[in-house]
Amino acid sequence: MTSFDFTTPAFRALVLPNAPLMTLGAGYAWLEGPVWCGDANQLLVSDVPNDRILRWTEDAGVSVFREPSGFANGHTRDRQGRLIGCSHQQRAIIRTELDGSLTTLAGHYEGKRLNSPNDVTVASDGAIWFTDPPYGINTDYEGGKQIAELPSRVYRLDPESGDLAIVAEDFVGPNGICFSPDESRLYIAETGQQFVADGASHIRVFDVAGGRALENGRFFHKVVPGAADGFRCDQDGRLWTSAGDGVHCLSPEGEILGKIFTGGVVSNLCFGGRDRSRLFICAAHALLAIYTNVRGAQWP
Ligand code: MG
Repeated sequence: MTSFDFTTPAFRALVLPNAPLMTLGAGYAWLEGPVWCGDANQLLVSDVPNDRILRWTEDAGVSVFREPSGFANGHTRDRQGRLIGCSHQQRAIIRTELDGSLTTLAGHYEGKRLNSPNDVTVASDGAIWFTDPPYGINTDYEGGKQIAELPSRVYRLDPESGDLAIVAEDFVGPNGICFSPDESRLYIAETGQQFVADGASHIRVFDVAGGRALENGRFFHKVVPGAADGFRCDQDGRLWTSAGDGVHCLSPEGEILGKIFTGGVVSNLCFGGRDRSRLFICAAHALLAIYTNVRGAQWP
């Protein structure tokens, strides 16, 4: 049986206690960047140190989608259905066009190379928001050791001008990034270990001003144990985040509602499948999935 922590009674209505936590694949180095592609009925997910993007379908299971992948990490899709990805090795945001060709959307800021874009989301106006910590260039394992040319920041790539603007720069290691369903708020993970005395990861929330800037940044939730590497909202605005012991479900007020225990570290997750009610979980070395009683936000 799947193991849950019903921190609050409300969590019982959000999950299916009899739904199994299924293992869809195992033996990976470090899974990250999952994205559901409903039109193709497939999940794409990065196996970062193995320099590949994997594809999972119900019928065929796990296969290789792209290898090498430029040490791809976070993924999302834009409103045209194009895959938007973070590349550690190319230190860039890469778009996969509908014909399969690749376009580099952003690789520099004022002539200096980005660090290693980690996670990404697209607003309904087409703007691409992404985090740029140095994790992918700190080691050869996840993309290749290189010198950082820029501080850790969060950027917004304008869909019309292609201009890159800094929207946050008070992070040591910005990581997961996700809008609330109405796009009034943006959640960003801080996983820079120096940031707080006890080394614990936390999530901050910002108000989105005019679709272009962030205001009123504030502490949202401290994930214990582990780190909020990546997260997604359900359609009611709850935030489902990775943690050191599984998946934690947070209310829009930042209170923990409950947990799904996975037996180890989770790096990222996304909703998908029929009705977007299936949670796909990157459990570091294994790909897991569980049906829930909520639906993921309309857009990943
Ligand atoms: Mg990440």
